[in-house]
Amino acid sequence: MRLKGKVALITGASRGIGHSMAKLFAQEGSKEAINFLKSEKEALDLAEEIRKQGGEAIAIKADVSNLNDIKKMIQTTMAEFGTIDILVNNAGIILSATFLDCTDEIWDKTMDVNLKGAFLCSREVAPIMLEKKRGKIINISSASGLTERSAVGNTPYAVSKAGLIGLTRSLAVNLGPYVNVNAICPGLTETDMAASLKPERRRKPIEESIVKRIGKPKEIAHAALFLASDESDFITAEIMTVAGGRAIR
Ligand code: NAP
Repeated sequence: MRLKGKVALITGASRGIGHSMAKLFAQEGSKEAINFLKSEKEALDLAEEIRKQGGEAIAIKADVSNLNDIKKMIQTTMAEFGTIDILVNNAGIILSATFLDCTDEIWDKTMDVNLKGAFLCSREVAPIMLEKKRGKIINISSASGLTERSAVGNTPYAVSKAGLIGLTRSLAVNLGPYVNVNAICPGLTETDMAASLKPERRRKPIEESIVKRIGKPKEIAHAALFLASDESDFITAEIMTVAGGRAIR
């Protein structure tokens, strides 16, 4: 019960990595605000599953690129649970584009969801954490935000994820010493997002890794659990790569 009594708001928790984090955090005792946009059934089913196991969870529809939606999501979470201890900025999209074929629309949409979404959610949640002088924010960046050659071909995605690393460091400075802000850079992880990639784009990261396999959502969730728990109180502004050794190449 490493998160006993804590309230966690996880964006994009209806599927994939966010879904796995919400499940694991709930098993560790936290109350869950499960954000979704399109996958309502999956989010409602997850909240129901957590409640059946004795936990507390609600599903909240919100587009993280829309400030009004975010404000309502936070109001709903506060009304239900009274506070927010942990924010995971996990919601993300990957749209197929390289540099030369990246349209303005693809660029704007990617930045709005992946980067501005995390900025807005953090800005709206931070006062709650600052008031009680405690909180944890975890941004889900990507190995694509680092220097990986095969991963950075998608320019808007890679730039949005690199931006999240900058946002993490800046937030850690601005919200310290009370709020710990860290990022996780997952390598290729078995979710719908990974399944949507071209075979070549799926093969390369596995080849480049040391462990020679794709990651499991739960393996990213366990890293997030550590950063959400009291065990990581001395860690902030840190970028944790969880990519099977891929980042050293
Ligand atoms: P996924 O399976 O495609 O799930 C994406 C989640 O984000 C869904 O729950 C989706 O909700 C939500 N979402 C998308 N746009 C949203 C919006 N505008 N507002 C609110 N929620 C939104 O993706 P994933 O693989 O779990 O990825 C999770 C995070 O990890 C992303 O930030 C991704 O970039 C990052 N990541 C993934 C990998 C990988 O290989 N899978 C590697 C590195 C980093 P709905 O379905 O309800 O719309």
